[in-house]
Amino acid sequence: LVEIHNVHKSYGGVEVLAGIDLTIAPGEVVAILGPSGSGKSTLLRTINHLESVDRGSVTVDGQLIGYELRGGRLHELREKDILRRRTQVGIVFQNFNLFPHLTALENIVEAPLALGRTTRAGARNLAERLLGRVGLSDKADHFPRQLSGGQQQRVAIARALALDPKVLLFDEPTSALDPELVGEVLDVIRALAQSGTTLVIVTHEIGFAREVADRIVFIDAGRILEEGPPSRVLVDPEHPRTREFLAKVL
Ligand code: ATP
Ligand code: MG
Repeated sequence: LVEIHNVHKSYGGVEVLAGIDLTIAPGEVVAILGPSGSGKSTLLRTINHLESVDRGSVTVDGQLIGYELRGGRLHELREKDILRRRTQVGIVFQNFNLFPHLTALENIVEAPLALGRTTRAGARNLAERLLGRVGLSDKADHFPRQLSGGQQQRVAIARALALDPKVLLFDEPTSALDPELVGEVLDVIRALAQSGTTLVIVTHEIGFAREVADRIVFIDAGRILEEGPPSRVLVDPEHPRTREFLAKVL
């Protein structure tokens, strides 16, 4: 479903992604682990073209994200086309990034309406259903500042689902939360995983990764050092860097 091929990305001469190859199957749940600064967020952001790539390509369901092939070369799409293709890939950030001046319901209604996918009534109906799915039916008219961090993050997940993406990306979705609010967000992600949604999750919650992920991908210095099922990578890692990292976080 997602094909990441030889992706390179540098900032000011420093290579942050140094040739990433990763293929993600429909319904697969992939957890990305790695030290701070290893390129995890940058990799996620290239998947929906919040970051351009210097080399390589990303396709989702056979469609290039951010680029088109013309005359044998990749050319960046126009803004309008970038936005349209980006809707295939939902993303949820560490800090929720809700629109502060919109209610929970309006936050979810916004994108499908702006894209002309549905009527206002249709979008509200969808938003109400999604709020139910994340357990927040009673908070539809609350503004972000009236919600806890865990509730805000669940609204952010509902908002990402509103565009019916083919794959959903999470960048440390619980690391800004108070410990007692982590569980409610992980519950929602776990339910998505069980319903067959394709997920890519950057997380430091090793226990959660072990439980929900089909595959663990360990990144260091912009390279995938190893990958495999949690029962192998987390229990018996091959690479010394993975062992060192796990020893620190477990
Ligand atoms: P963390 O676990 O701390 O979130 P990460 O693995 O997500 O780290 P990235 O955010 O992808 O790491 O950053 C990788 C490297 O790229 C870091 O050295 C970072 O400083 C650098 N970097 C990221 N974004 C930019 C940017 N927009 N401009 C310049 N350097 C950047
Ligand atoms: Mg990061």
